[in-house]
Amino acid sequence: MVGITPQDYRQDGRSEGAVSPLDGFAFQRYWESRAYELGGGGYQAPGQRVGDFLKQRPSTAFGSVEPSYKPGVLPTDLAAADRPSLPDYALLAIREALPAFDRQIAGFAMADAVLTGVETRTSSPLRINRGKDLQSLNVAGLYPAGEGAGYAGGIMSAGVDGIEVAEAVGIAMLGRKA
Ligand SMILES: Cc1cc2nc3c(=O)[nH]c(=O)nc-3n(C[C@H](O)[C@H](O)[C@H](O)COP(=O)(O)OP(=O)(O)OC[C@H]3O[C@@H](n4cnc5c(N)ncnc54)[C@H](O)[C@@H]3O)c2cc1C
Repeated sequence: MVGITPQDYRQDGRSEGAVSPLDGFAFQRYWESRAYELGGGGYQAPGQRVGDFLKQRPSTAFGSVEPSYKPGVLPTDLAAADRPSLPDYALLAIREALPAFDRQIAGFAMADAVLTGVETRTSSPLRINRGKDLQSLNVAGLYPAGEGAGYAGGIMSAGVDGIEVAEAVGIAMLGRKA
């Protein structure tokens, strides 16, 4: 997983200021379209051997690890300069992280492991803004929480946010200040 910020997906070309709430959807849709094209346009997923990805060369076949995804995975170059499957900073982060993880978990960067692109649905592409008391800014009594509201990107952060929101609800019910 590579973390991204609103600045990474803003669609208006500016480098600062508020980002449109729907820009995350446009970003997600763009990279999903790229995956469709890279997979050959028939709902196969684009894939690459980790060894080839790290050596920055295209995959033409898979090795000892056979992808199980149906209808199939097309061996390709996920980092092709003219048609990458991910933004540059994501490719760089993954290329840096795989060998680092491999030093802690032997085999993590196994050459025949298959990278399949692109996973865009692990986190919500929008955030419902809330105040210090964790209530929605424009709907009093509504507590946006967890993944779907844009306050978590994983199981642990969703759980922690849930605890914080439950505490905020309790504080409000008891009539105390947060
Ligand atoms: C493919 C995929 C892989 C992932 N892999 C990882 C991973 O490896 N590690 C990790 O940490 N995280 C991972 N995540 C992210 C993680 O699963 C989520 O961030 C986390 O589950 C979010 O928890 P949540 O409680 O906020 O939301 P959810 O778990 O989505 O819970 C929301 C609940 O609300 C219910 N609901 C929705 N609408 C209504 C309604 N109108 N009325 C009543 N109930 C409703 C839903 O049925 C659901 O039970 C992954 C996500 C995906 C999609």
